[in-house]
Amino acid sequence: MSVMFPAFLDLNGRKAVVAGGGPVAAAKIESLLAAGARVTVVAPAIRPEIEQMDVEIVRREFREADLDGAWWVVAAAPAEVNRQVSAAAEQRRIFVNAVDDPRHASAYLGGVVRRDGVTIAISTDGRAPALAGLLREAFDAFLPREIDAWLKTSDRARRLWKSQRTSMTERRPQLLAMLNRLYEPRIRDPRSRIRAQVALVGAGPGNPDLWTQRAIDYLRHADLVLYDALIDAAALRDFTDAQCFCVGKRAGRESVRQETIHRLMIRAARQRKRVVRLKGGDPFVFGRGAEEAIALADAGIPFEVVPGLSSAIAAPELAGIPVTHRGSASGFLVLSGHATEAFDNGLRAVQPNAVSLVVLMGVNNRGELAEKLIARGWHAATPAAIVCGASTREEWIWTGTIAELAATEPPAAVAGVVVVGDVVRVRGRLVAAEEQKVMYGRNR
Ligand code: SAH
Repeated sequence: MSVMFPAFLDLNGRKAVVAGGGPVAAAKIESLLAAGARVTVVAPAIRPEIEQMDVEIVRREFREADLDGAWWVVAAAPAEVNRQVSAAAEQRRIFVNAVDDPRHASAYLGGVVRRDGVTIAISTDGRAPALAGLLREAFDAFLPREIDAWLKTSDRARRLWKSQRTSMTERRPQLLAMLNRLYEPRIRDPRSRIRAQVALVGAGPGNPDLWTQRAIDYLRHADLVLYDALIDAAALRDFTDAQCFCVGKRAGRESVRQETIHRLMIRAARQRKRVVRLKGGDPFVFGRGAEEAIALADAGIPFEVVPGLSSAIAAPELAGIPVTHRGSASGFLVLSGHATEAFDNGLRAVQPNAVSLVVLMGVNNRGELAEKLIARGWHAATPAAIVCGASTREEWIWTGTIAELAATEPPAAVAGVVVVGDVVRVRGRLVAAEEQKVMYGRNR
């Protein structure tokens, strides 16, 4: 026997003939009716339970002409009748399923597992119906009870893919992530924490492990996510089915203008969409997050600010540098190093070497920043560090002194902080043992 061709037939409204009126025929008729077929039963003797069914009954011996107009035939009669049925079907080019009589069959049903909208059919090419039965039981045990929820999720995914023109390669991982979300424990109802139409959410230094629970709740219920360049876009997909747009500066492309971001948020919120504005670190630390909050407040849109771990603290911390170590520094100053004049003004506010200094957006200007520090009376030998890509795979750490800052060569494309002060020395003690690096930054 050759290999079988697997197919599912649409018998809805089509004529099916069953030769035979015994219990085996009865079982076959049931599954045909379930598929919507119009069933004619031909047999001299017909069981009462078949008489109760919604079928046409022809109470006599089988005749070839009984197959006229049929799409499907079941031979469930004694072997001699089955042979006739099979020959007649063959002549009319109709597939015939012969129960326990493989020689007279051209179609085999094997085992069928059906749950909600999922059907699994098992074939042993007609050779081992008993084995097909065992396999059927195995698949039945293995199919999830909540397969209906899986189907609904797939439906939702398909609609989403269509509207977003999602590429084929992205679909499978997306669907898997959506299905996995069905099994996430819901200890508390996260919706109760989702109150605002728009959330300005801090995403921490980079690794999604450091996103807050509330950040994840908002993402899960979002319709639109506007995210910064430093956000891990692939990870974002694990948490949300929302439309996601990068509004930050990306390889060669200018960032979206601040006013445009405001407009996008306000327009989507007015369309009743739930918007997440996902920002690196903490939204209110050098991220123009406050401007966005003010724009929303002025537009009368309910919003919430969800704090995130600022790289100002987390980046040094992940490198083993505690910005306020007792005995080394009683406080820390966070400055932007983007504009050296503004940086210099900030320095004037403190006594040289009196506090730890953390500089954001300053790695590229590190030489000039070092000059300003020394000009303001900081010792050239003060310990300094650069921490790039903290918490991410691109993590890069350097330690030295203010005097050595200019000559370092940090990776160009990875965001970093500059840390200045005695607290940098603590790192040596914390990461002395190699295995401790696992604790400080090597968490990806
Ligand atoms: N709101 C953010 C800062 C935005 S300004 C926060 O609170 O962290 C962007 C600067 O953040 C970068 O220039 C860099 O100095 C710093 N930064 C962001 N992510 C970082 C990371 N993973 N490691 C080191 N510095 C980072």
